[in-house]
Amino acid sequence: MVRKMGVYAVLAYCLYGLFFYWYLFHFADPKLPFEYEGTKADPSTFLNGRELMLSQEYSKIRNLLFFLSTPFEWLLYFLVLLTGLSKAFKNWAEQSAKYKVLITPIYLFWLSLCAYIVTFPLSYISYKLSKTYHISIQTFPSWMKDELIDFWINYGTWLIIVPVLYLLMRKSPKRWWLYGWLLSVPFTLFMMFLQPVIIDPLYNDFYPLKNKELETKILALADKANIPAEHVFEVNMAEETNAMNAYVTGIGSNARIVLWDTTLNKLTDDQILFIMAHEMAHYVEKHIYWGIAGYLALSLLGLYLTYRLMNWAVVRWGNEMKITDVRDVKSLPLFFMIISMLLFASSPFSNLVSRYQEMRADTYAIEMTNNPDAAISSFQELARSGLSQVNPPLFVKIFRYTHPSMLDRISRLEEFQIKQRTD
Ligand SMILES: [Zn+2]
Repeated sequence: MVRKMGVYAVLAYCLYGLFFYWYLFHFADPKLPFEYEGTKADPSTFLNGRELMLSQEYSKIRNLLFFLSTPFEWLLYFLVLLTGLSKAFKNWAEQSAKYKVLITPIYLFWLSLCAYIVTFPLSYISYKLSKTYHISIQTFPSWMKDELIDFWINYGTWLIIVPVLYLLMRKSPKRWWLYGWLLSVPFTLFMMFLQPVIIDPLYNDFYPLKNKELETKILALADKANIPAEHVFEVNMAEETNAMNAYVTGIGSNARIVLWDTTLNKLTDDQILFIMAHEMAHYVEKHIYWGIAGYLALSLLGLYLTYRLMNWAVVRWGNEMKITDVRDVKSLPLFFMIISMLLFASSPFSNLVSRYQEMRADTYAIEMTNNPDAAISSFQELARSGLSQVNPPLFVKIFRYTHPSMLDRISRLEEFQIKQRTD
């Protein structure tokens, strides 16, 4: 029975992978709807033939990797349970732990290490791919350093969460999901507060804008939007990537707008001001706080569902998965698997909300800067530098796109421009 379940799971994963290969490489039609042909949103008007071909190729492979990697995690955790590895990790932890409190940290370490090693090839392929297409220019040692920081931050975070979670499960088998959620509220806020000052600086350097002339212009714009000057930062990314980006992060006094130096190096001042105005919209409209509220609401539902699904799975397949009791830390792979599935299932919804916020930010930015030429060309440059797909296939849009496609974004700006001319 165990072997059969394992084989079925692997087969299901392969079929799923083949489906997405077929969908992305053969079914999805990259051709633009004819009404967009020749407009400023049409990539053939701003990319040369080689760039067009590369962006199509690159996005297809990236999209496939995206769809392969999350269910790969599920398969991994499922097999860790079926093969008895989870049980073995627990036994090792029990044998090597001098004190009982160390069992969970040791178990978690083996499980994290196993997951990291098994998923490493996919991360490495993804890194190699972006190097091949000259998006990433990061050296292997520098990339590996980031990977190791990722690993330890992940491990450290779960090291705080898992012991508390299993303690709650033992103390309150029927309400742990609720108490766990209540504790997650201050924890999430605290992590969001620390992110820009403790975690992000582990990867890169953050500092005030270097170009003082540009800084004056940006701060004048920030002033117009009532954003304090000390909340605008530049980050060194030019050694790692050719892509451009800007984002808003942190909460409370640590809220900040961050511009990648690549964006500052490659765009004109007017284009940068448009990008900056877009980020200011996120800041002013408090999209981070809406995001956190939405995340917390969804995680309450998610934890409740996890509680139900874990109990159900253990009653039904406890023998096969070698879990006799949900409250034993051996069930952790099942917890990770269910959480990951629920996150994936909810991503179309959270992406939809995010796309709506992005659209609002674009509107705010164009109204504030009132310079459609700079706005449109900045998006064209963004698409070129990241070889991004201007018109992604439907599934890609639904599951992957936190931003509207460049086709939508540029054509909205063009509409604004036409309206402005006729007014
Ligand atoms: Zn945005």
